[in-house]
Amino acid sequence: MSSDPKLADSGRHRCDNCSKVWDADELKDFCDIMQRLDPGGTVPSGECPECHALCYPVEPEEEKDVWGESEKYPRADWKYEVANGDTNQGYWDWVRNKKMLAADEEKSDGS
Ligand SMILES: [Zn+2]
Repeated sequence: MSSDPKLADSGRHRCDNCSKVWDADELKDFCDIMQRLDPGGTVPSGECPECHALCYPVEPEEEKDVWGESEKYPRADWKYEVANGDTNQGYWDWVRNKKMLAADEEKSDGS
């Protein structure tokens, strides 16, 4: 049940630009989605009603605890990368990026 793809449609979605979080039914449909998609990136959920940037699904763990941290990708690691200038992303964006990279690696393992 937890992997039901419909959950993404009914959840919360965060604007990539202004970081506001919206319900799915608050988002505007976008008309030029194909031109705005990043190759290999997360498929956006819709358009921010305020600034018209793209919005992406918020993972429940992010929504619950803004100041928390991912078990797998601790804040200490993120701070280390920030200190080294390896990333200028916010913590949860960084975690999301790490998860995507990990998923890509799993795929290329061919297990
Ligand atoms: Zn916005």
